Amino acid sequence: MFSKTIQKLINQFSNFPTVGQRTATRFVFYLIGEKKEKVAEFINSIKDLKTKIKICPLCFKPFEGEGKICPICSDPRRKKDIICVVEKEVDLEAIEKTKKFKGVYFILGGTLPNFGKEQQKEKITKRGAILIQRIKKEKNIKEIILALNPTIEGQRTSLWLQRKLKPYNLKITQLGRGLPVGGELEYADEETLSSALESRR
Ligand SMILES: [Zn+2]
Repeated sequence: MFSKTIQKLINQFSNFPTVGQRTATRFVFYLIGEKKEKVAEFINSIKDLKTKIKICPLCFKPFEGEGKICPICSDPRRKKDIICVVEKEVDLEAIEKTKKFKGVYFILGGTLPNFGKEQQKEKITKRGAILIQRIKKEKNIKEIILALNPTIEGQRTSLWLQRKLKPYNLKITQLGRGLPVGGELEYADEETLSSALESRR
């Protein structure tokens, strides 16, 4: 049995995505072996996340700096009439890296769960409603690209969004061929992602 303090931090780390008890335990013992200053720096970085990082109210991208909306949404060179819907921030970054997309984004925050996971379901349903509100409010939106991951969950969520978006008379597209089925955008190479974006339909 680990001491209370150690166990508490292990439990906290094991709440992180993809981190299990064993990895969490390694993290904790790594920190125990680190110098005080290094740990203090680490604590500060975590604190900064909550004080310096803002969430864009339009696209939900985390950002820092001046202004209320993120650098992408506030960039006059970006086309505001094409919205690319992605699951996560990392997917947005992957698409940005291709430099092929000149529109704006909407981060859904994950996929719609099939059953259970009520909290997640509620979060995604809410985000979906916010997207619809944005479409209604901005009126001039021409195209929505559903760039969700080509996984079962991603495709199910895409279908759900397609149904929700249907009444608004928009061009709804999905990424084209080339992306490996079951894969995730964040792992796709730039070339594959570029051509998937260009061949959207
Ligand atoms: Zn934004």
